[in-house]
Amino acid sequence: MTAQIIDGKTIAAELKQKIKAATQMRLATGKRCPGLAVVLIGDNPASQVYVGSKRRSCEEVGFKSESFDLPESASERELLDLITQLNHDDEIDGILVQLPLPAHINTDTVIEHIAPHKDVDGFHPYNIGRLAQRNPQLRPCTPKGVITMMQTTGIELKGKEAVVVGASNIVGRPMALELLLAGCTTTVCHRMTKDLESHVRRAEILVVAVGKPNFIPGDWIREGAVVIDVGINRLENGKLTGDVEFDKASEKAAWITPVPGGVGPMTVATLLENTLFAADELNQ
Ligand code: NAD
Repeated sequence: MTAQIIDGKTIAAELKQKIKAATQMRLATGKRCPGLAVVLIGDNPASQVYVGSKRRSCEEVGFKSESFDLPESASERELLDLITQLNHDDEIDGILVQLPLPAHINTDTVIEHIAPHKDVDGFHPYNIGRLAQRNPQLRPCTPKGVITMMQTTGIELKGKEAVVVGASNIVGRPMALELLLAGCTTTVCHRMTKDLESHVRRAEILVVAVGKPNFIPGDWIREGAVVIDVGINRLENGKLTGDVEFDKASEKAAWITPVPGGVGPMTVATLLENTLFAADELNQ
């Protein structure tokens, strides 16, 4: 079998077109444009790239994007004060604090300080709790983007054996909750999992979010599986690669996402989708 590519770039571009049209409709009815505040602390090069792409995407769809760049030395208090101000700003529908934060700032404290109805990253315990209770509101962008790309491709999820490799708060865990919500029988693997190979081999839907290049050998993939590679790893030659051995996996999978051009663009498009949802439904 030679896998078909799940083209995240094209699906994300179509989603952005829909968001742009919906934004124009909002404006036509006299409502203000959705506003996203993007907060970056320090000068982590990868974070700068992600934040740049999020800000540009806001402009593409006609949102107002406000940038707050704080120095690496900024204190937790300063960041919390900025979030308080944004929580009360009527023109801001979404607040995104780019992770990871410098070591002297407590990430949980910061996430919990964002008003849940402006938490467009979907990481606040309130929003994770809503997802866990099958009544999602603002959903973490990467896992939601993965579900959207599978639904758009016409992949049936109900009753499927899904395996998630990676159990982080921002990808693996909420991904498992999304797959459960979509009707999959879901297994989560992590660094303490014994015999990872046996789990991967029975996955009909495999989502990998580990952060190690070519971590999953292609010959572990089940014949006809759907393979979603969330990993983004920069090699010494500057090229980006995923967590799955792409060429070999493509010989066995029915569907596979490339890196780059797979999950990455869906994450950004979903952030915009969440911001529009917050503007339309939560922050009127
Ligand atoms: P993380 O480091 O927080 O989590 C990695 C997870 O992998 C952990 O749960 C850990 O238990 C698991 N793991 C590590 N070694 C393992 C092993 N030997 N066997 C099984 N599990 C193991 O990383 P993260 O923030 O979840 O990100 C994972 C990857 O996804 C990174 O490459 C990151 O850059 C990428 N990412 C991509 C997007 C996107 O939009 N495409 C978004 C977020 C993260």
